[in-house]
Amino acid sequence: MDFLQSQLEALKATGNYRTLAHAEQEGRYLLKEGRRMLNLSSNDYLGLAADHALYADFLRQVSPRWSLPSSSSSRLLTGNHPVFDELEATLARLYGAEAALTFNSGYDANTGILPALAGKDDLILADKLVHASLIDGMRLGQAHWIRYRHNDLSHLERLLKQEGEAHQRIFIVTESIFSMDGDEAPLRELVELKRRYPHIILYVDEAHAFGLRGSKGLGCAEEAGVTSDIDLLVGTLGKAAASAGAFVVCRQSVRDSLVNRMRPFIFTTALPPLVAAWSLYVIRRLPEMKDKRRRLACMTRYVHEALQAQGISTASHSHIVPIPVGRSGDTIRLAEQVQRRGFYLLPVRPPTVPEGTSRLRLSLRADLTDEEVKNLTHELAASTPFILHPKQHHTDS
Ligand code: PMP
Repeated sequence: MDFLQSQLEALKATGNYRTLAHAEQEGRYLLKEGRRMLNLSSNDYLGLAADHALYADFLRQVSPRWSLPSSSSSRLLTGNHPVFDELEATLARLYGAEAALTFNSGYDANTGILPALAGKDDLILADKLVHASLIDGMRLGQAHWIRYRHNDLSHLERLLKQEGEAHQRIFIVTESIFSMDGDEAPLRELVELKRRYPHIILYVDEAHAFGLRGSKGLGCAEEAGVTSDIDLLVGTLGKAAASAGAFVVCRQSVRDSLVNRMRPFIFTTALPPLVAAWSLYVIRRLPEMKDKRRRLACMTRYVHEALQAQGISTASHSHIVPIPVGRSGDTIRLAEQVQRRGFYLLPVRPPTVPEGTSRLRLSLRADLTDEEVKNLTHELAASTPFILHPKQHHTDS
């Protein structure tokens, strides 16, 4: 296995070597190596995973028939517990859609849906910055695929004109809030494009918007009033919904096809019914959680304004705030600096983001206090010289 050693050395040399940290979550804090830090790297955007009273309430009311710790088989064998039907019916009802189907994770959803639905005569046009799971889904399938420049609709339309004729169907694939940049896809314009080209199927991954956007918390499509125009609306349940798994909201025929053809749906043990029951409990309450959504939105505005005042501006207007640095080594040093001050921010490096665009990724969460948000912005302001001129700052210090 010597060949692995040299690969690992190469990762170390470029600052891209990763290890698993021993860390424990304690509410909105993270305990790591004897330090207690505010956890600003989790996807618990509404603070629901940190809300022990909510979980205790769920445990009090969940029926023992629904709290099984294992499904013991695939949904297509003996694992289709009624809780999955109830969860899917609830999601379909909330979205006003024909059907929904749940999966064990967002990774499963995105690696399975495209290979199941897009055939060799089809074309997939995907935003350049879509998540690795979607890229893997395209790689695993038979369809020809091209990535269009990030959020660039004129590039997308040019590709549609050039390539469209030669393909039966064209899948356009995007995230709604992009996981690493925090900026948003122009959903209304994409829907408009779909209206002009009859054979487009629109696939939107709302992983980072589900629970947070729209008056019921259904995502950016709800906010933009276009849920019914999206053919494949994917949401994940391990982020704002504080559970595990994922879902697609779609037509009944799509659901039936996925049940028959989607390999990560068919060939895996279903999530434990207990987890699905918790998802259902949270999803039923999401529409009422307007105060948490409002709080996160206000905090988001405040933090973006504070960063802009320091000359740090990005395309993000969302709760995902990238703090650009550039080189991996500099990003790691900056992360260590802010962690020493009690803010758990992580460096995001290649291959997660393109070479030279390493950044800290700040995930805001609704359960931060005003004081914590203020202290955070002060800390980031103090780090500004490092952020704007990382190399110079490093040699100077
Ligand atoms: N889609 C996006 C946009 C994501 O960011 C992620 C994970 N961070 C996933 C899908 C995968 O979801 P899961 O963690 O449930 O596998």
